[in-house]
Amino acid sequence: ERALVWFRRDLRVDDQAALSRALSAAQQVFCVFLLDRDILDPLPRADRRVVFILRSLEELHRQLAALRPGAGLIVRHGQAQAEIAALAAQLDVQAVLTNHDDEPAALARDATVRDALAAQGRQLLSFKDHVVFERSEVLSASGSPYTVFTPYKNAWLRRLTPADLRPHPLQPQALAASPLAGRIPAPAEIGFEPVALPAQLGVGSSGAEQLLDDFLERMDRYDRARDYPALKGPSYLSVHLRFGTISIRRLARLAHERMLGGLRGAEVWLGELIWREFYQQLMHHHPQAMSAAFRPAYDAIEWERGPGAEALFAAWREGRTGYPLVDAAMRQLLASGYMHNRLRMVTASFLCKDLGLDWRWGERHFAEQLLDFDLAANNGGWQWASSSGCDAQPWFRIFNPVTQSEKFDAEGLFIKRYLPQLSKLPAKLVHAPWRARPEELQALGLVLGRDYPPPLVDHEAARRRTLERYAVVKTAR
Ligand code: FAD
Repeated sequence: ERALVWFRRDLRVDDQAALSRALSAAQQVFCVFLLDRDILDPLPRADRRVVFILRSLEELHRQLAALRPGAGLIVRHGQAQAEIAALAAQLDVQAVLTNHDDEPAALARDATVRDALAAQGRQLLSFKDHVVFERSEVLSASGSPYTVFTPYKNAWLRRLTPADLRPHPLQPQALAASPLAGRIPAPAEIGFEPVALPAQLGVGSSGAEQLLDDFLERMDRYDRARDYPALKGPSYLSVHLRFGTISIRRLARLAHERMLGGLRGAEVWLGELIWREFYQQLMHHHPQAMSAAFRPAYDAIEWERGPGAEALFAAWREGRTGYPLVDAAMRQLLASGYMHNRLRMVTASFLCKDLGLDWRWGERHFAEQLLDFDLAANNGGWQWASSSGCDAQPWFRIFNPVTQSEKFDAEGLFIKRYLPQLSKLPAKLVHAPWRARPEELQALGLVLGRDYPPPLVDHEAARRRTLERYAVVKTAR
């Protein structure tokens, strides 16, 4: 028996469901990663994720080779149906094993690969790996999928047994040597620029390991630190969860053990991992909500359009709104491909409820820029902020960007990291510099309109317009 393991969002060897299954069932196991042209070709040529993937593949190859001399990762660049079927035929495997990817485009791709393999008399087998509970594994007592987080979380925790978090064993004896393995292309060879990655995020399983070590020291304080972007509060593991360079079962196990030991920080962090699964199962049950409002009434909202709206959108993307916390956050995103969760909420709310722009515009920008971009989580986050989601911020609740700034970056430390021109402003001026007298600002080396823009919109006026704009949803459910 020969098998081919097709790696996708599971770039590790330990506790990897499809790899584990193949190694226990077959005598000869080959490994492949496909640089999928259907995904890559439409991307901008400078994309941090491509560099993250390629570097993680190098590490994955080294790990496989260390398990068995001559073994390693085969990398192909092309279209999934043709490449996977051709490689399966070349290696003459009976089955291709992979892990579930429930994004609508991935499901469609897998269906075509399954058909192509079936035409050759081979199988495509797929396993749960990316989440602890998937699809319909957590349902309400009446058997329907949850659309509200807290009851979902409670049901998730009730359903959890030690077996759900047990790692998949790794028995490497069946890993097969292959002369095809080990040629990992450089970004330029597949048409991408070798952009730099933020050093602190690390790549591959070893990068994830370092972040986890660091976070384990801080996990018990997570509940108190996580909302303050100037602090090292969260784990920064999102990119590793996205590409599977760390196992979700392992993270959930660590958090769950500490939670049972009474650590509040671990309990809150586990709750975030459950949010991730909440949005994954929502995508499975409501794939239509990946491109339209989860609550259809919200698609009747009339967003700003035309050149004026385009200009507002450009100012938001480039961090030129005149609201320092929003601008610092947008610059963090451009500079690093990461944005703190509190700031994702603030900037997303600002786009829909201060600028009156369609949440899908913001969703698309985040999808292009975020290293950790994940369709289910990003769409969930945007629909939360725009109030069109299933368990969302109520439509009439509108974040005040200045109050958020005073509350979560009181000293302006985060703001000043990304907006050095505001570095001399005292805490009382840094959240809303336009409220100071021009002479006062000038004495601190700042001229509004020259060094930093005046506010793009007046929040109070924008708030009133938003309440009118959203009135269309009042009558609908
Ligand atoms: P931690 O606070 O350490 O959380 C641990 C893990 O839990 C994260 O790595 C992530 O996998 C998961 N998680 C945390 N919060 C959420 C959440 N609200 N929804 C789903 N999963 C969560 N997260 C993404 O992974 N990809 C996205 O594309 C994404 N887009 C977002 C867009 C908006 C508008 C908003 C409001 C949130 C978005 N999030 C997204 C969720 C959250 O902001 C990030 O997961 C988090 O900031 C990542 O940083 P961390 O790993 O340090 O998080």
